[in-house]
Amino acid sequence: MPPRVQSVKGTRDLLPPDTAVWAAVEATAREVFGRYGFREIRTPIFEETELFVRGVGESSDIVGKEMYSFEDKGGRRITLRPENTASVCRAYVEHGMHQLPQPVRLLYIGPQFRNEKPQKGRYRQFHQIGIELLGGRGAASDVEVLLALVAFLRAIGFSDLTILINTVGDKASRARFKEQLVSYLEPLREKLSEESRVRLATNPLRILDSKSLEDKALLAGAPSLEAALSDESRQHFEAVRSALDHFGIAYRVAPGLVRGLDYYTNTVFEVVSEGLGAQDAICGGGAYEGLVEELGGPPTYAVGFAIGEDRLIDVLPPESAVRRNAAGPLLVAPGGRLANRPSVSPLLELVEEVRRQGWAALEGPAKKDRLFALAESLGSTCVLFLGEEELAAGTVVCRDLRSREQRSLLRADLMAHLQREFS
Ligand code: ATP
Ligand code: MG
Repeated sequence: MPPRVQSVKGTRDLLPPDTAVWAAVEATAREVFGRYGFREIRTPIFEETELFVRGVGESSDIVGKEMYSFEDKGGRRITLRPENTASVCRAYVEHGMHQLPQPVRLLYIGPQFRNEKPQKGRYRQFHQIGIELLGGRGAASDVEVLLALVAFLRAIGFSDLTILINTVGDKASRARFKEQLVSYLEPLREKLSEESRVRLATNPLRILDSKSLEDKALLAGAPSLEAALSDESRQHFEAVRSALDHFGIAYRVAPGLVRGLDYYTNTVFEVVSEGLGAQDAICGGGAYEGLVEELGGPPTYAVGFAIGEDRLIDVLPPESAVRRNAAGPLLVAPGGRLANRPSVSPLLELVEEVRRQGWAALEGPAKKDRLFALAESLGSTCVLFLGEEELAAGTVVCRDLRSREQRSLLRADLMAHLQREFS
């Protein structure tokens, strides 16, 4: 036998019943972000490498070491998209969306590719759900995007996630702070971790979110980014925070949060979940002012975020409505001699009746062990039993597989019961 071909390291197949949860999460994203005016854009999976070099930034980890790049047959330098913001901005410019009434609100959902070491919560093909608001108005736009984020997280069943938020200041504040930080760290150079020594030359701000304990100790005495902020940046940050307070949204100011990408200005944020271990970030985002211009468009205020869908689904609460919507078909199992009835049986009549009311339903096997094995593999939450006794009495037995409760119902009450318990 020839050796088996396996999926490539860092990639995975998503299988049913999990795919139903993915589809339900994505449907909820379209619905909730749609309420905030975000409409879907689908950009190509691959782009010219140059787009990410310019759009994500040469000194970022993504461009520096994580891109899947190759030369195509025409000698073009191509990269599988490692993130979607650069592509969205390219499309915004390419299709003249900056001439539409502003702001333009876009949603994307799809796979991204990064050549990183695969581990829990880190894949080489992973998936993001993100929104970008382009052509907006400073702090008010940041708030709009954060409100949409919280609405989505709540809709899929998270109630206790905290948003970490910080400001990296405007261009001038950042330049000023960069200088202060470098002159503070330069004399301590030999004591820094290897990674931070490299960053001292390429992207000193990133040293602030170093995980190394030695670096953290050295940073304790560093000048603060907060102190280097311009009045405008300070006001911007205050405006964002007071709006979040106004709407009762929980957040924590995280002074070390600087994000890995070069294009952010002012507001940056992340959502982390304790259930995830080392790879704990579910969502990262922020405002960016220079990117559209960098790609040949007009100066444009923009803000957005990307949610890591794989990690999000890893920590989805068990009671999430999304799981309920993703439940598999009801199983209708025969009892007694009904199991042996040919094609148009009372059983099939019941299955069709349920389907016509908008439920997924399948006939199940009469043997209990086979029935429950099937229910589990399909992700079913409910089994209906119909035997000769029930048929004669005009009833049906309904078993809730989540609570294991079983009830006998009149046929006439069945739909209302399903509606109440299973939708
Ligand atoms: P990390 O710190 O985990 O490397 P990042 O800063 O590189 O994250 P972003 O570029 O901000 O990530 O992407 C936004 C989100 O996409 C992350 O918060 C995470 O949930 C998800 N993500 C990023 N890289 C991966 C990956 N390799 N596998 C799975 N999810 C990922
Ligand atoms: Mg990363």
